[in-house]
Amino acid sequence: MEVADHVILIANMIFNSKDFKDSLTTLTFKNPENNCSCNDQVILHDDVVEGADAYTLLFKEFNPKLNIKFARGSRWKGLGVTPICTKDITSFIKAIQGNMKDLHNLNPASVIAVNLCHEYFHSLGYCHTYDKLIENDKRPNGGPINWQYYRDDITYRIGWIVYDILHRWVVIEKRAI
Ligand SMILES: [Zn+2]
Repeated sequence: MEVADHVILIANMIFNSKDFKDSLTTLTFKNPENNCSCNDQVILHDDVVEGADAYTLLFKEFNPKLNIKFARGSRWKGLGVTPICTKDITSFIKAIQGNMKDLHNLNPASVIAVNLCHEYFHSLGYCHTYDKLIENDKRPNGGPINWQYYRDDITYRIGWIVYDILHRWVVIEKRAI
């Protein structure tokens, strides 16, 4: 599927970009629940996850063999699902596109890439610090409504970092032409 190839290409470009490195390595996430405790390479310093350590972990495995599924629908209410510390990632395309449809018209492959990058951090061993879904997680100017999770939850923040980078790369640069 052509879109699937684009999604993976975009996710790769994001993770390997200076923008992503600069965005993540300056952050800290002050909640020990960010660590799923399924990967002993996830490091905590005084219950804090350092973005720089997460960034290092991201590149520890050079060529991960991921089992990625892009599914149309699901009874699961989330945008994707990744059993922790597995390489089995499922992204629910309709849910993702519905969730992000108001966000500055990113193209279909880009919005799925936002989810894939988020899910990959679950694969690395990072968990959510909340157990409920965040409904209507949007703000009119294109960012999260839940600032607590934005600040403290690394996988949640990864999604927004990727979204912000794509927004800068795709939408703003397109406007400048
Ligand atoms: Zn998640």
